[in-house]
Amino acid sequence: TKWSSDLTTLSRVELLEKIRAQINERRFAHVLRVEEKALELAQDKNVNLEKVSLAALCHDYAKDRPDEEMIARIKAGDYDQEMLKFGSAIWHGDVGAELVSEELGINDAEILNAIRLHTVGASEMSLLEKIIYVADYTEAGRDFPGVEEARQITAVDLDEAVSFATKHTLQHLIETNQKIYPKTLTTYNRWVAKL
Ligand code: GDP
Ligand code: FE
Ligand code: FE
Ligand code: FE
Repeated sequence: TKWSSDLTTLSRVELLEKIRAQINERRFAHVLRVEEKALELAQDKNVNLEKVSLAALCHDYAKDRPDEEMIARIKAGDYDQEMLKFGSAIWHGDVGAELVSEELGINDAEILNAIRLHTVGASEMSLLEKIIYVADYTEAGRDFPGVEEARQITAVDLDEAVSFATKHTLQHLIETNQKIYPKTLTTYNRWVAKL
């Protein structure tokens, strides 16, 4: 099958091969499950399903890149340099969007923004961005305390699911004494504290 030619010239099989070559097998399986969950969440919603699929499949494209390459790209590019104090957990969204554009030729701004935001979220989030953020958290392979509750909320109210995922991610980071990226706090203030 082909996607709309304005989104990518790659076939689905070609795209999957390129993604598979970038990430480990476990993560590749995760990416396929995120697509499945994201398409489920997109049902009956006013969102382009091809963009849902492409954003889901590409969201972790940069996750297994060597740190040195990621650091070099952050230094050379137009990135928030504060990212350098964090690790690939934070980098792979922003740098991933750049790599997906450069290496896969996918240049749709809505898709790239969904990739960019998928880890830390944002105060303003489009429907596509919310779907990817929440699908990443609740895909069928995820197994953590609270995931069932997250899935139930997700089935009812996407905004509440953004809130739940943000709150529980932050809670986990605090409990394990991890650094909080400022954009994660911005997301918390908007979606959990409803600032
Ligand atoms: P994944 O790429 O499918 O594993 O999922 P994500 O991209 O959503 O998250 C990657 C990791 O980033 C998760 O382990 C989150 O807990 C972590 N993370 C999210 N926000 C922050 C933050 O503000 N600081 C730190 N240190 N880690 C974060
Ligand atoms: Fe990710
Ligand atoms: Fe996530
Ligand atoms: Fe992911």
